[in-house]
Amino acid sequence: MSQSSQCELCAGDGGEVIWRHPAFRVVLVDEPDYPGFCRVIWNAHVKEMTDLAPAERTLVSNAVWAVEAALRETLQPEKINLATLGNMTPHVHWHVIPRFTDDRHFPSPVWAAPRREADLPSLQARRAQLPQVRDAIRRQLDAAGLPVA
Ligand SMILES: [Zn+2]
Repeated sequence: MSQSSQCELCAGDGGEVIWRHPAFRVVLVDEPDYPGFCRVIWNAHVKEMTDLAPAERTLVSNAVWAVEAALRETLQPEKINLATLGNMTPHVHWHVIPRFTDDRHFPSPVWAAPRREADLPSLQARRAQLPQVRDAIRRQLDAAGLPVA
């Protein structure tokens, strides 16, 4: 499969790019209720993790662990949710989502029906930490030996 302008993850980055590796990128997603929500997106059209070569699986996994570590260190969430769905786009991508007991959906998945209104002071405090989140993601990926493109 070739890249396509019909594909939203080929036509755009899919978020604010924090790290651009030759094979993947890490983006901060614009989800107002979930500051720190990141995606690790494989740049080429690959549908399943098992379509990647073993070394490529390790590469993308190490990027996910680095992002998880950065989110834990900065935001100290109750839980990190990891998910790979990709039903709508032919790019392997991992959602790395910091979860808090007062977030809109906790303890349900973020894609479920909301359980409550977001707690604005908590959200604002998390948004204020985004500069540290960006720095920590870059530092963790660098420490994992994942070079920038
Ligand atoms: Zn694409």
